[in-house]
This record gives sequence, C-alpha cells and structure tokens, in this order.
Amino acid sequence: MLAGLYPRAGRLVKYDEVEHLGERLNAKTSRFAVRRRTLAGKGAVVTGGGRGIGAAVAEALAAEGAAVVLTARTGKEIEWVAEGLELEGRPAHAVVCDVTDPESVSAMALRAQELLGGVDILVNNAGIAESAPFLKVSLEQWESVIRVNATGALLVTQAFLPEMLARQWGRIVNVASVAGLEGARYVTAYTASKHALLGMARCLARELAGTGVTVNSVCPGYVDTLMTGKNIEWIALKTNRDVEEIRATIKTLQPGDRLITTDEVAHAVMTFMPDAAASLQGGELVVWGGGVRRPEEKPGDSPETEGEPEDAPDAGRAPEGGAD
Ligand code: NDP
Repeated sequence: MLAGLYPRAGRLVKYDEVEHLGERLNAKTSRFAVRRRTLAGKGAVVTGGGRGIGAAVAEALAAEGAAVVLTARTGKEIEWVAEGLELEGRPAHAVVCDVTDPESVSAMALRAQELLGGVDILVNNAGIAESAPFLKVSLEQWESVIRVNATGALLVTQAFLPEMLARQWGRIVNVASVAGLEGARYVTAYTASKHALLGMARCLARELAGTGVTVNSVCPGYVDTLMTGKNIEWIALKTNRDVEEIRATIKTLQPGDRLITTDEVAHAVMTFMPDAAASLQGGELVVWGGGVRRPEEKPGDSPETEGEPEDAPDAGRAPEGGAD
C-alpha cells in the first residue's frame, strides 16, 4: 500500500515522504502548503543519547530533519536509538564516547564531523546523579559528578564550537536541572555540577554575542527516566520504604503531581533551535510544570528525608540528585 503511493519509485517509501504527503493533503490554506523541516541539512550531536532525555531529544531533532550523532559510553544503547531513527528514514549514527576523557571526545568529534559533514547543533545532556549528606561527600564522588556533568560539557563544547563559529551558525543546549537554580539537602556534588554548567553557559553566552551561535540551558524537575527510577530504588533500599510509595511522594513534590516526560524536555530543547531564536542567548528554560514550591513544604524537603531524623545517615540520594 505504501509503495502504491509512489508507484514509480519501485521501493518502500520513507516515513518522511509519507509525512510530507500527509502534510500536503491536510493543508487547509493551500493545497500545496508544506511545512518545511526547520533543521533540514543540519548536523546534531547529542551526548548521553542512548536513553531517557537524550534519546527523546535526538528523536525531536531528527523529526525536524537534522542528521544526528548519538554518543554515550554504552554502545548498545546508542546503536539501538540510532537504528530506530534509521528505520524511520532519519539519518542517525552511534559513536561511543566518554565525555570525561579528552581523547575520547576528540575522536568522537572527528567522527561526528565525518559522518555529518558538519556539526551545527550540540546538546550537552550526558549526566550522572549521586548524593550524600554534605559531610559524607567523598572526593571521588565530588570529582566524578563534576567531571561528567560540568567538565564533560566543557570538553564537548570546545570540540565543536570552532566549527560553529566558522559557519556563523550554531545551537548549543545544556540539559541542566532545577538543581542548577537552587540548593537541596544531600545533593551537594550534583547541585554544584549543575550550577557550574549554568555558569559556564552564561559566560560563554557573553563571548558568543553577535556570532550566530547561541548557548542556552533547560532546567527540568524530576523526569521519568532510568536515572530517576534508579534513585527511587536507592532511596527505597536506604530507607526501607516501598518503591511505589517513594515514587508517589516524589510526584506530590512535583507541580501537577506527576513526573515530567522526556518529550516535554525535548520540546523545551527544540525551542532554542529555530533561526528566530537567535536572541535567546545565555538563558535557562525551566521545565517543571509550574515549579512553585507549595506553602506547606519547607525549602529543601526531599522525599527520601521525609520523616527521617535530620542527621539521617546516608538517607539516600534525591531522585536525579536534587530536582525537588
Ligand atoms: P539517564 O541516566 O537515563 O541517561 C544519562 C545518559 O548519560 C546515558 O545515555 C548515559 O550513558 C550518559 N552518560 C553518563 N555518563 C557519561 C559519560 N561519562 N560519557 C558519556 N555519556 C555519559 O539520565 P536522564 O535521561 O534522566 O538524564 C539526562 C540529563 O538530564 C542528565 O544530565 C541529568 O542530570 C539531567 N536531568 C535529569 C533529570 C531527571 O529527573 N531524570 C532532571 C533534571 C535534569 P552511558 O552510561 O552509557 O554513558
């Protein structure tokens, strides 16, 4: 049936072509009005693209016509996402990279440029979450979280920025967190790393003014991903509470009583992509469904400490490390 749409093509039609045709048929104002894919011809790199928010961002970029390179340490996950996009007729590639390793980043940047013919868009999404009461933050934990969440974004941005500047067009978006905007208990390293990420973007934005390249950040609350799921399990283990009970508590700490979806974060990232977004520079877009703390909550309340003594030992980690 699909082949019948393009009888002369003698091949299966691609998803894009069907969608394109659908848009034409549905156009109300003009029979031939076609929505132009805003990122057609652009190359995009998404770090941490193998699952969760990164995978959703890659899908959103590809849906707007960008060719995408997904990176992460786990080859199987990024390959799976890339294959899914390829099956829909969207160009996508998987390149393994550890964002904390300068050599790995250089090799990935070279390969991405070869595969895409140029990188116009970078989404710094790779991240990890750890937590501990302040006095129990080990040097190892501090350094590993800062290294992935902040240093990794610095290295990857430095790898792609010169090319964007040469082309006089570029979009860099960091996936930070509401933890980058305020403090919470037990999430010192994570919160510091996200503050660093936002600080880096604000400084870079000053340097980028007038270049055609922009840098911005999104700051989600708790998102329904593996990171959140793992942390819920961790809290359950540490506090002897039921996983579902903790999940329910987290939801009540969220405006709207639900977790944010990965698609909602991806949608926020896409806000910074159009040419018309050229003046969005050095900004933060909060994705938190309202994000106003309820009057009955004390600042810094987090589900894992609810009902726990103030000095609860290693009570657990805040989901994603402090979005509450
Ligand atoms: P996930 O744990 O589901 O995904 C994290 C991604 O980062 C994975 O693809 C992981 O792949 C990759 N990654 C981790 N370390 C490295 C590394 N050293 N080098 C390259 N890639 C790495 O997390 P989410 O999708 O939930 O989070 C994505 C981003 O969003 C993070 O920066 C997180 O801090 C942020 N965020 C998350 C929120 C949430 O509630 N979940 C809320 C607010 C912000 P691999 O392990 O294979 O390397």
